[in-house]
Amino acid sequence: MKTIWLKITAQAPLALNEHKPGGSQFQEGLKFIPGTVVRGAVARALNYSARPGYEALWQAITQETACFGDAGPGIGARPHLLPTTAASCKDHAGFKTAGQGHGVFDTLIDRLCWETLQPPGLLYLPGCPECDGRLKAQGGWYTVRSGRYYANIPVSHLLTRVAINRRRAVAEARLLYSVNVMSEYMEDPLALADLPARRRLAPTEFRSPVRLPDAAAAQLLALLPELEVLGGGSSRGLGQVEVAEDETPGAELPLANRLADFNATIAGRKSGWEALARGQKLPAGGYFTLDLQAEAILERDWQPAYVYDAAALQSESGCQAPLTLVRSYAGYSYRSGWQGAWGLPKETAATTRAGSLFLFHTKDLKSWAEALARLEEDGIGARRGEGFGRVRVCDEFHTVMREEAK
Ligand SMILES: [Zn+2]
Repeated sequence: MKTIWLKITAQAPLALNEHKPGGSQFQEGLKFIPGTVVRGAVARALNYSARPGYEALWQAITQETACFGDAGPGIGARPHLLPTTAASCKDHAGFKTAGQGHGVFDTLIDRLCWETLQPPGLLYLPGCPECDGRLKAQGGWYTVRSGRYYANIPVSHLLTRVAINRRRAVAEARLLYSVNVMSEYMEDPLALADLPARRRLAPTEFRSPVRLPDAAAAQLLALLPELEVLGGGSSRGLGQVEVAEDETPGAELPLANRLADFNATIAGRKSGWEALARGQKLPAGGYFTLDLQAEAILERDWQPAYVYDAAALQSESGCQAPLTLVRSYAGYSYRSGWQGAWGLPKETAATTRAGSLFLFHTKDLKSWAEALARLEEDGIGARRGEGFGRVRVCDEFHTVMREEAK
C-alpha cells in the first residue's frame, strides 16, 4: 500500500453541493472536495470499467482497497482540520495572520488537566489572549507556512444563470436559477499585504491523500491528466480542475514527533494544575488523541454511534494494550451523495462530524505507537474508500496554548 497526495487546482468555479435531510430547498455549499467526488471522477475517467492498462486501479476502487481522502483547501501547503477544541475570540475571531484576528489556540490539554484534577474552587474559563473577551469554537482548515498559521476559506458565491427551454433551446422567459459555487480564486496568504486585493488572489488549491495498492497508485498517477472535471455543472462550464501529484517534501510531522510533543506539552502544563489541586496527580502513562480529518461512519451493534471508545479502538486496531477513553468531543451530522455508476442517490448516513476528537489514556504508550501509525493509514469506521473516517493522531494544533495563540 502507498499514500500519494493529490494537488487539485481549480480552473473554474466548483459546484459541490449537497442536500441534507430536513434542510431547506437550498443546497448547502461545501468548503472542501469530498473524497467521494474525487473517487467518482476517477471512476468516470475509467469509464466505469476496467480500462486496459488501468485494471489494478479499477479493482482497487471496486474492492474499496483505495481510500480517497477529503481534499481540504489551502495554498502552498497541506491543510489540516482544526480540532473542535480550538477556540478564538468571539468578537475578533481568526488567526493573527488574518489581520483583525486575536489568534486561535487549543483548549484540550488545559481542559484535560482541569477535568482530571478538579482543583477546588477553580473554573476553567479562559478568555481571549488579546482582549480577555469571550471565546467561541473555531473550526475549519488551517495550513502552516514559514512557521505562521493561516485559515483557508474558499470564496463562495452564487452564480445566477438563465434556464434554457429544452424544446426550443432558447432562454426560458422568467426562469432564472442560482448555483452555489466555490470561486476558482482565493487569497494567497503569502502575497504581500500592500498589493491591491485583486492581485493577492491565487488559484484555489486543494490537497488530499489517496491510499491504495502500489500497482494502482502508479496507474492513478498516469490517469491524473485525464481528471479534468469535479462536481456538478460541467455542461455549464463549472468544475474544471487540474490534478497533479503533490510532492511537497517533508510536509508532514512524523507521528512519533507528534506523540512526543503532545505528551511533553501535557507534562509542561500539568505541574501548575497539580499545584492548584492540592497534591492530586495525573495518572502515569501517556495520552493520545484521534482527530477526525473527515466525517466518520461509526457503528456499534448495527446502530449508528458517535463516540469511538476504547473497546472499538482495541478491536479495530488489534492492539490489546490497556486503554481508557478520557473524553470525546464529538458532534454528529448527515451525509448524502450521488452514485454516478448507478445513477442513483446514495443512502444518507449519520456521521460523526469532521474535527471531532477522542482523547485516550494508556499506561503503555509504546505498544500503541505502532497500532496508531496503522490507524492513520487505514482510518476508522465504515466506507473508508470514500474518505470517511480518516484520522490524525495528536494533531500539532493541540500543543498551541493560550499564551502562544497563533
Ligand atoms: Zn479578543
